[in-house]
Amino acid sequence: MPHAGIERLKTYVPGKPIEDLKRELGLSSIIKLASNENPLGTSPAAQAALANFDGALYRYPDGAGYEIKSALAARHGVTTDQLTLGNGSDDVLELTARVFLGPGRNAVVSQHAFAVYPIVSQAVGAEVREVPALDPAADMPYGHDLEAMLAAIGPDTGVVFMASPNNPTGTWIDNDTLADFLDRVPATTVVVLDQAYIEYQSGASHPPVLDWLARYDNLIVTRTFSKIYGMAALRFGYGLSSPRIADFLNRVRAPFNVNTVAMHCARAALDDSEFISRSVASNTAERASLARELAARGFACLPSEANFITFDTGRDAAEVFDALLRQGMIVRPLASYDLPQHLRVTVGGAEENQAFLAALDTVFA
Ligand SMILES: *Cc1c(COP(=O)(O)O)cnc(C)c1O
Repeated sequence: MPHAGIERLKTYVPGKPIEDLKRELGLSSIIKLASNENPLGTSPAAQAALANFDGALYRYPDGAGYEIKSALAARHGVTTDQLTLGNGSDDVLELTARVFLGPGRNAVVSQHAFAVYPIVSQAVGAEVREVPALDPAADMPYGHDLEAMLAAIGPDTGVVFMASPNNPTGTWIDNDTLADFLDRVPATTVVVLDQAYIEYQSGASHPPVLDWLARYDNLIVTRTFSKIYGMAALRFGYGLSSPRIADFLNRVRAPFNVNTVAMHCARAALDDSEFISRSVASNTAERASLARELAARGFACLPSEANFITFDTGRDAAEVFDALLRQGMIVRPLASYDLPQHLRVTVGGAEENQAFLAALDTVFA
């Protein structure tokens, strides 16, 4: 029999794959704005690296990830012993749970936080303390309430998980609030700051994570190549932390968790600053335009510094989701995130966004 934590676990439901919908509805033209993938595709540098890859696939990967770690360390101004590589950043979240959680311990998360946090926590037998989010009428509607999260931390709290910007809300935590939180969290509790969407946040409001990493021995920052780098299928992410924490994470890491091709392509993508700037520019413009169009139709949008917008449909969003699906438009319903009237739509390219709005208009006609 599985342990009690597994009994309570709800399986993660990913954005509906395009091929599934094609099979189910016999549709040929489908637009997927459901998994916060980059509408510009994959970094061309990564794409070229893949096409030219001539590494030895019969050999095991470099389990220490020497090349990519050196590049990441240089990029961030950290030492390689502060890095933990993951098969996607979800892998780093899982390593964190395996090291710092377990039966008798708990993880503190916010309501409307990323679904992977409770999954990895319960999977190792820990309890999850979900803290109510900020009020819908707050300055940061549905955002994380760090005072309440701090108050929820007890002697058995191994980890606090939070994302800024957060998925699925798009909300973020301002730097002063975060710094104050880090100052007051007990040193025995690890704080995970998930920055899957950091590149999309306006530069001026990026938190000084390097200063914080130097200051807080209990901080883990996670990054991914699945979102802006457009490498979701290859699975590559990493954690930044103190060497002490990275050492723990690496003890439980599967020896060859990251594959050779992913590391090779990530190395190329890391230098593709042109693609990153182009992706940021496209997202910033299209997000503003999409938010304007949704607001003009009377939908309340949550503030977003990410590459998606979450908005209130004013009715059971599962019905809207289904009606959109029938038109070949895949977005994300959020009932499992305690937001039964909201939909999350990834900011696509201009044409995809127009098609989404047109499909939405037929549902609300
Ligand atoms: C997409 C996402 C991730 C990234 O997952 P990968 O495993 O790196 O693909 C991590 N955290 C949040 C909040 C996300 O939305």
